[in-house]
Amino acid sequence: MSEQPIERQSMDVDVVCVGFGPATAGFLATLAPRLLNEDGTPAIESTVMPGMPLQVLCYERADDIGFGVSGIVTRGRGIRASFPKLNTAEIPMATPVAGEKVLYLLDPVGASRRSLTLRAADRMIRALGPLVRFEDHAIELPFTPEFLHKRGGLVLSMGQFMQWVGSQLMATGAVQLWPGTPVAEALVKDNRVAGVRLIDQGTDRQGNPDAGFLPGMDIHARLTVVGDGPVGAVGRQIDSQFGLPPGHHRVEWAVGAKMVVELPENSTLEPGMVLHTFGYPEPEIFGFLYVHPDRLASVGIFVPSWFDSPVRTSYRYLQHYILHPYLWKYLKGSKLRSWGAKSLLECGRVGEPYLVGDGYARIGEGSGSTNVLTGSGVDEAWSTGAQLADAVLELSRQNKPFSHENLEATYVSRRRASWVDREGRIAQHARDGFQSGLLRGLLGMALTGLTNGRLNMPGEPLRPYERIPDVYEYYDGRIPAEEIARLREDCAARGASLHDTLMERCGWPAIPYDGELLISHQDALLIGGKVQAPPGYPDHVVFLYPSLCEACGTKICVEVCSGEAITPSASGVPQFDRDKCVHCGACLWNCEMPLEENPDKTNIDFRAGAGGLHSAEN
Ligand SMILES: Cc1cc2nc3c(=O)[nH]c(=O)nc-3n(C[C@H](O)[C@H](O)[C@H](O)COP(=O)(O)OP(=O)(O)OC[C@H]3O[C@@H](n4cnc5c(N)ncnc54)[C@H](O)[C@@H]3O)c2cc1C
Ligand code: SF4
Ligand code: SF4
Repeated sequence: MSEQPIERQSMDVDVVCVGFGPATAGFLATLAPRLLNEDGTPAIESTVMPGMPLQVLCYERADDIGFGVSGIVTRGRGIRASFPKLNTAEIPMATPVAGEKVLYLLDPVGASRRSLTLRAADRMIRALGPLVRFEDHAIELPFTPEFLHKRGGLVLSMGQFMQWVGSQLMATGAVQLWPGTPVAEALVKDNRVAGVRLIDQGTDRQGNPDAGFLPGMDIHARLTVVGDGPVGAVGRQIDSQFGLPPGHHRVEWAVGAKMVVELPENSTLEPGMVLHTFGYPEPEIFGFLYVHPDRLASVGIFVPSWFDSPVRTSYRYLQHYILHPYLWKYLKGSKLRSWGAKSLLECGRVGEPYLVGDGYARIGEGSGSTNVLTGSGVDEAWSTGAQLADAVLELSRQNKPFSHENLEATYVSRRRASWVDREGRIAQHARDGFQSGLLRGLLGMALTGLTNGRLNMPGEPLRPYERIPDVYEYYDGRIPAEEIARLREDCAARGASLHDTLMERCGWPAIPYDGELLISHQDALLIGGKVQAPPGYPDHVVFLYPSLCEACGTKICVEVCSGEAITPSASGVPQFDRDKCVHCGACLWNCEMPLEENPDKTNIDFRAGAGGLHSAEN
């Protein structure tokens, strides 16, 4: 970055929000209708513009609102409380939950890496056949555990829902939404967050001023609402500045990859049907199929940080998932409509940061709201936003500042008294068992769920780089080291990742491309994600110390990259192509080289950046 002091324009507002995900949507949907009286006069007066209503701005990184990625099936308690007359017919791709199934998927191709115990269980299931309702290499659990039920809930497209909320908000005229505007950082002075700085435009890839340079504006705000999701740069900056509460950590993650597909004309899937699966393509990979109206479905998988494979490609695994005979019987003949990937913070409440401080408040997944027992984050994020909005209204009506103390008394106290916190506490150790294997993990979830969190399966959470073996160790006994070294050289010479080659070498069948649903990763970027990045912005994925990359073994950032945006290079330092990045953030937490000065950080810096997915169907 240039060392020259840069003159920046600035603006004063009352409230500035970072990110427009479900959390901020819940915040604004609760706040906006209460800011103006029926005659248009301010119900809550601005402090920075006396006589005007509270000045509330929201900056979203993506080029439009609704370009996020998520399932979604949700119980929708918070969402329904905000919209008591919610009519799903008004929201594209929305429908009430009509039925739920949990399925264990067996391995139909013989390539999945299963333990001896799991293989024995699989053999027994196959032998029992119809007695256990074994069909298409899958068995349906006789019941859906109560804690997983989304009875009375909603199947939504996150993108469509967010666009619908956005239009409701804009109709109020009370708040401003600015998509295509990444926030570079929070302005922190004397331990107080005093607003945000928007990203510079017209720079080279390193962030130095270039043709058409436009310095990012400083937005001074009385309250900064940080709702930038699990890997947001502003949330992580605040974590670095203020630390995490004792005992809290952020070491468990998953990357979720998902497609929206147009089902074949003869599809028998009913809108509102929800399938949850586990066991395939690898035992550790959970998956889902949610059916929307109009012959559309969302299908996706989660690759968790505790899946000990250095070949962690979510795209390729998603293709094997949809080819599983149980799902393929429904999906054959479908067309890809959209695709994307996103990180999920799987620490839940254990990953909760300090929720408030002078001048700022944290909401949504980045604030530890996701429930890791039920696998739900949307309604939880929404509700934390709504709780903060109630607090802001209360403080504004009393003319009180947004100080740490006042936000504790109004926002944090509401949150602690709510179902989000209560259920988050129950769930907080639900996934610990997965640290030492799938079966212990599943037992742990059942134990937590059945005892309301009183009993849990113990497990020491490890950072991905502490547990994922290198590629030689992982394939030891299956592929000779010399062969891996040779394949690796071949792939690097082509600038390609290793995962396809190694998976096929271990028996995974090649993907039978059909040009409609089964397409190459590059085609998915163009057709499904419509991924692009405008010129004139700095690279948001930065390899901090090139020497660490040169010394790095597997270069897991290349293997995990959801957009094939990180590729190997002859120098040993990978290359990053901003035009292909879907902003999933998986490279950040998968990087296998921790920094000496701070083992919670890796050699990748994931900064605020422009571009990414351009589809509002996800
Ligand atoms: C594949 C997948 C399936 C899922 N399925 C379900 C499900 O079925 N049910 C469920 O309840 N939950 C599900 N989840 C989880 C759910 O998506 C999240 O918990 C939820 O989206 C969190 O909302 P949020 O508002 O906190 O954060 P996010 O949704 O991450 O939103 C944060 C927003 O901030 C923006 N942003 C980030 N940095 C900046 C910046 N610097 N400047 C400006 N903007 C910024 C981002 O672009 C984003 O729009 C799923 C997640 C995935 C990945
Ligand atoms: S970014 Fe991390 S994982 Fe990638 S090559 Fe560098 S050190 Fe290795
Ligand atoms: S480079 Fe982009 S697409 Fe690739 S893993 Fe990182 S954030 Fe995801």
